[in-house]
Amino acid sequence: MSVMRSLLLAASQNRWLRGRASHYKFVRRSVSRFMPGEEVEDAIGAAKILESKKIAGVFTRLGENIADVREAEEVTQHYVDVLRKIREAGLHTEISVKLTQLGLDQSTELCIANVKRIVEGENPDKTVWIDMEASNYVDATLDVYRKVLAQFPRTGVCLQAYLFRTKPDLEKLLALKPSVRLVKGAYKEPAEVAYPVKRDVDESYFSLGQEMLRAQRDGRMFRVAFGTHDTALIQRLADFTAKEAMPKNALEIQMLYGIQRAEQERLATAGYRSGVLVAYGSYWYPWFVRRLAERPANLWFMVKNLFAA
Ligand SMILES: Cc1cc2nc3c(=O)[nH]c(=O)nc-3n(C[C@H](O)[C@H](O)[C@H](O)COP(=O)(O)OP(=O)(O)OC[C@H]3O[C@@H](n4cnc5c(N)ncnc54)[C@H](O)[C@@H]3O)c2cc1C
Repeated sequence: MSVMRSLLLAASQNRWLRGRASHYKFVRRSVSRFMPGEEVEDAIGAAKILESKKIAGVFTRLGENIADVREAEEVTQHYVDVLRKIREAGLHTEISVKLTQLGLDQSTELCIANVKRIVEGENPDKTVWIDMEASNYVDATLDVYRKVLAQFPRTGVCLQAYLFRTKPDLEKLLALKPSVRLVKGAYKEPAEVAYPVKRDVDESYFSLGQEMLRAQRDGRMFRVAFGTHDTALIQRLADFTAKEAMPKNALEIQMLYGIQRAEQERLATAGYRSGVLVAYGSYWYPWFVRRLAERPANLWFMVKNLFAA
């Protein structure tokens, strides 16, 4: 892992920096590249524009590790309300939730109940996605996922290609016909649990991706999505689908708002399924710093904003 990435991932967890960051205009200007605004209405506005380009939105409210069950209840109710607003706006947008915002640290049972309450409010043709957080949460997240999936067969979970355990995790999940969004992984993980070298993460991603696409074709997976901006990897996956004579819409790529916009549009126009995760909310600091860690060149973009009018 590069020194810069390590430093930024450590900074993403620093409370003092979090407290200071929102006071600086140049930081807020930089954040606005990656999210349309702090309110769900801002996300709805962005999703309307995306849909006009055949790009589906996926909403996520920023925040992690809430302090008590009251906060978990507030976040649950928030998502129930958001699903209603999405319906009223006539959008195809889905949502992606973090279990530590829904009470995972407080009680697994409570978390399962909260996720089920949210999924019940969703159109049964759509997927509610469950994010994957740091590696110490993987067991608990998959446990909640399996229990929700048993009742709501379209629910999806995120798996991280950087973890050694993901291959066996995927194989076990296949018995349940899951929906999976594959990502590389955004957290600072030790070399005992995750590939430290990027090339190995990329190969793990491609290998898992091929397995998922085959499983989807064979009816062993409900839905497969790839959360990545890596255009070389996307091309390898597209070539694989063509070689296996899969239709273009078997390949679904989801990206983050504001990143690789031209590629998002190119994929949608070419007949692939293209989606964009639109984040909103006031708790953006750790999320934003993880985006900087993914591409330290983004720091220059922030520095430029420091000198902008
Ligand atoms: C839809 C979606 C959902 C996600 N959900 C999760 C989750 O639940 N859990 C989790 O751990 N991680 C999640 N992630 C983050 C993911 O793990 C990676 O950290 C992130 O996607 C960067 O990896 P990459 O696949 O784009 O490849 P990389 O190799 O990191 O990047 C490939 C190229 O994409 C561009 N790029 C990548 N990131 C940025 C950026 N921040 N700014 C500008 N350009 C960039 C650069 O050109 C870079 O060269 C999600 C990502 C997406 C897109």
